[in-house]
Amino acid sequence: MPTETFEFQVEARQLLQLMIHSVYSNKDVFLRELVSNASDALDKLRLEKLKDDSLDADVSDLHIELDIDKDARTLTVRDNGIGMSYDEVGRLIGTIANSGTAEFLKELRESKDAAGEEGLIGQFGVGFYSGFMVADEVTLVTRRAGEAQGTRWTSRGEGTYTLTTVEDAPQGTSVTLHLKPADPENQLHDYTSPWKIREIVKRYSDFITWPIRMTPEGAAASDEGEPEPETLNSMKALWARPRDQVSDDEYHELYKHIGHDWRDPLETIRLQAEGTFEYQALLFLPAHAPHDLFTRDFRRGVQLYVKRVFIMDDCEALLPPYLRFVKGVVDAADLSLNVSREILQQDRHIEMMRRRLTKKVLSTVKDLMGEESDRYATFWREFGTVLKEGLVTDAENRDALLAVSSFASTHHDTEPTTLARYVERMKDGQDDIYYLTGESRQSIENSPHMEAFRARDIEVLLLTDPVDEVWVDAVGEFEGKKLRSVAKGEIDLDGEDAEADDEEREKRSEEYAGLLGWMGKHLADDVKEVRLSSRLTVSPACVVSDTGDLTPALENMYRAMGQ
Ligand code: ADP
Ligand code: MG
Repeated sequence: MPTETFEFQVEARQLLQLMIHSVYSNKDVFLRELVSNASDALDKLRLEKLKDDSLDADVSDLHIELDIDKDARTLTVRDNGIGMSYDEVGRLIGTIANSGTAEFLKELRESKDAAGEEGLIGQFGVGFYSGFMVADEVTLVTRRAGEAQGTRWTSRGEGTYTLTTVEDAPQGTSVTLHLKPADPENQLHDYTSPWKIREIVKRYSDFITWPIRMTPEGAAASDEGEPEPETLNSMKALWARPRDQVSDDEYHELYKHIGHDWRDPLETIRLQAEGTFEYQALLFLPAHAPHDLFTRDFRRGVQLYVKRVFIMDDCEALLPPYLRFVKGVVDAADLSLNVSREILQQDRHIEMMRRRLTKKVLSTVKDLMGEESDRYATFWREFGTVLKEGLVTDAENRDALLAVSSFASTHHDTEPTTLARYVERMKDGQDDIYYLTGESRQSIENSPHMEAFRARDIEVLLLTDPVDEVWVDAVGEFEGKKLRSVAKGEIDLDGEDAEADDEEREKRSEEYAGLLGWMGKHLADDVKEVRLSSRLTVSPACVVSDTGDLTPALENMYRAMGQ
């Protein structure tokens, strides 16, 4: 087949331009990205071979190899993993499928200055393309395990790439970077230096579970024939090592590898379960919600390992849907290597594990709340909306979830409150927790329903997420105090004076009977009843729902869902 030339997809071209002209100072991370891809490819091959023993692939010595050629100024990252077919290379390398990256590019277009650019590159994983930060040409040769023919991909990153088939490609993938000319001013970025490469691997990829080997140049000069390659990483599974032997940085690098995130996580959670069903878990709370968290195809779940062997990504059976943003690794001692998603969903041990992990995550958030209020605030801002889904779906953990939930309130303009704090501030004689739902804080505050509460200085929770409508009904009360919408039913705000009030109201109702009757008749198609109210101080009238009725926002939501 002749060599074919293709154009990069628009987003891919933008990303490449960015990489080529990057001012990003931490260029070393390109190697982490390439090693991360190689490691994924080895995981995939091992798994595929496990599922299908007839696959014509050699899995006897799976590893990653780094090769430096000082004279040619090239650095090659080679793996003997799953590889890619001709079509896959075009699809996976020529386009950008990751929605987070597309979002990243949008933000980038909006921030014009170089400093913003640098910050943004640091925040997003740009994967394979990061090679173009250090190379002016990249060649990738790959052969998919089980296939006879290989593929060569080449590009200078300037709009086009070429594809051609090759006959003698070894199984797996090699990526060769033709490094940019050496900068005599800056020896720090000499990627032909074995010392430099060793240091980067140690820093970013030590925990990779496959050997990363390098044969130092010049080693061949000895008489003992073939030079001995050196293994650069310790390959120790971080989750299996004692806490005090692992640095925060090491945990963070693992997070970046498995979370496909370039930022540090907000919190690291460790759990070791001993006994009849042993497992180790290392979970991370990210610092930022991904853009596709609320889309149907959001890939949720943590990685599952069995005795250090990678089994699957996105194992959704290990955590409930409302913790779908949690990343990490769970390594179980007593599961079959052939375990399937279907089996996991029904397994009794997995069920127990999910419950334990859920409680552990929630108690970690509780700790953050107590000791690290800034980090808790970040967590709640990013993930509060998702967590509140649990108030509806997870009755078992409802109390734990309520304890870590916080809500905007009239008590403070910007700082949200917990229900417990609200209760502490309740006025004498106030029996209920009041809330009002709406589209925004401002629209709620402007609602006529708020007038009487403002006049009496009674705190009201201001709930603006669609899920709020649902959980307040599902939860019903907190510490014996009913959650009551200020827009529903009759509300008696003056507690002790209730009796006097009733008399007064009756008297006034009689007085106004004519008017109320007349209005009731004219509005008969629109309202159930017209009554006098003590809830208004400024507005002349407002519309109130019955306690059991849907609020307008919920009505809209159900209507939108076609119900
Ligand atoms: P990501 O790793 O986040 O998916 P990358 O840009 O790093 O994004 O890689 C894009 C895709 O290209 C990978 O998902 C993978 O399918 C494929 N790929 C990259 N490197 C390799 C490799 N060494 N072996 C097999 N597939 C690879
Ligand atoms: Mg990658």
